[in-house]
Order: sequence, then structure tokens, then C-alpha cells
Amino acid sequence: MELNENARVDTSQVDDRRGSGGGGGMGIPIPTGGGRGGIVGIIIAVLVALVGGGFGLNAATNGDDSAQGDNTSLEQKCSADDALKQLDCRNALYVNSIQAYWRTAMPEVFGEQYKPSKTVFFSQNVSTGCGAADSGVGPFYCPADDLVYIDLTFYRLLADQLGAEGEFAQPYVLAHEYGHHVQDLLGTEAQMRRQQQRDPQSTNALSVKLELQADCYAGAWAKNATGTADEQGQKIFESITDQDIQQAIDTAEKIGDDAIQQRSGRPVNPDEFTHGSSEQRKQWFTKGFSTGDPKACDTFGTGQ
Ligand SMILES: [Zn+2]
Repeated sequence: MELNENARVDTSQVDDRRGSGGGGGMGIPIPTGGGRGGIVGIIIAVLVALVGGGFGLNAATNGDDSAQGDNTSLEQKCSADDALKQLDCRNALYVNSIQAYWRTAMPEVFGEQYKPSKTVFFSQNVSTGCGAADSGVGPFYCPADDLVYIDLTFYRLLADQLGAEGEFAQPYVLAHEYGHHVQDLLGTEAQMRRQQQRDPQSTNALSVKLELQADCYAGAWAKNATGTADEQGQKIFESITDQDIQQAIDTAEKIGDDAIQQRSGRPVNPDEFTHGSSEQRKQWFTKGFSTGDPKACDTFGTGQ
């Protein structure tokens, strides 16, 4: 993967709350030494929730404007010449690419207008429209405030714990979260919640379909990512290689529910799947990528 070093990072699409300490409170840091069990516990929680949407946070009321971050230093950093050497600037640029894709694709494919959504960079803990969250839940999308949340240290856990090291794992994770935003805009998410209420036994199965669709949307973005550009029309990616795509597929595979159950020493129980098996996640990302068409991501229609 090569980014175009002339692409301008639009930091207005992120909300940097890392300096704010989550409203004054110091979060509980992720244990880094000694407590092996703790790390494993956290990583399991992280992975189960990866790309969550409905991971058990209490829905809170909207309109919490105390939670605005401060983008000043990020903006400075990301307009410097070496901006793309910085993890946070690269991630902001991935967000730019993903949203540039959907701005065109959503009207084209679904006949609906895309509404941009910011990604909140937070550190350790954050208050959201879906309640308070800490890094342990992993990156997630909150339908109540239409925001994507990520503690960027998550990538280190992904690499260290799962060997999902490739850089392309990062835009894959973000593209999956924006897939949930698209589902929210299209009403897919709300429809699924209603179905879950009508038929509680189908809760997990429906959740899997929603998650696999988000993987598939991520694949569709990946296919079209080299066609995305910044606001000045500069393309964002110079190239995306087969190896990059393989990294995304590997990541999808490694965070399959069966893989996580196995890693945690539990028996594999498909009834408990909420995100899909390794095979399914790989399959649906690949379907999105090979077709490049979000319409092909009809996980709800397949009856699987
Ligand atoms: Zn998800």
C-alpha cells in the first residue's frame, strides 16, 4: 500500500479527544506488564466487540456537547510534510478515503444521500451517545450519535495478540465501522433491531448478518479505494496491492468468532457467534472486494 504524499489530510472528519482524558477522569490503563491474564481477558473483550455496534452499552440521551475534542495539534501535525509517517494522520486519511467512497457510492448504489460521520480518537475512555466506553470494547460505531470511536492503540493489540500486523488491517477496521454507519443511514440497523425484538432467539444470528455485511462493505471500499481523492482532487492511495488485501482478509479471519472462542480456550459454539466465523468474515470481505459492489453484500437475503 502506498499513500499519495501529496494528499491532504482532512482532520475535520475526526474529533481528537485524546487530550481531554474523557471528561477529566483518568481511565483505567490497559495493563501492559505482568498481568498476562488481564491482557488476554481484555483482548478477548476487544475482539468480541471489534467493530461492535450493539455491544451492550446502555443507550444514553443525545446531545452531550461536553464531549467535543480539540483538533488543533492534530491539524498542525497532519499538515506537516511528514504527516503520513504519523499513525493518527494516516488513520484520518483512511477515514477521508472511506467517506469519499460512500459519498459517491451511496447515491449511485442505493439512491440515498451519504451523511458524513466523524471518527473520534480517544484514549482509554470516552463518553458517547451510547454510554460510557473504554478501550477494552475495541473500535465501534454508535448509532445514537452517528460516530465511529477508536483508541488507536487497538492496532497494537491486534498486531501483538493476533499477528494481524499489516497496515491494511487499519483501514479495514475503519471501513467496517463506516459500514455500520451506512447501515444506520439505510435503516438496515434499525430494521435488524426490530427483528431482534420480535424474535429474541434470532438476536445473534441477525447480529452476524449485520457484521458480515459491514465486512462486505469494507471489501467494496477496498476495491474502490484507489479511486478516492481528497478535497483538492488528489488521489489518496497510489496503490493497494494483493498483499494488502490479503492482510485485510487475514485480519477478518483472525477475528472470526470461532477463532476467538478457540483462543480463549472455550469450545466453539456457533449459537454464540455475534460477528460470524472466520470463514464467513473472510468470505464476505472477499465478496465485497471481488464485486466492488455494495449491492452484492446482501447478507440478510441469503438465509445463511
Ligand atoms: Zn461491526
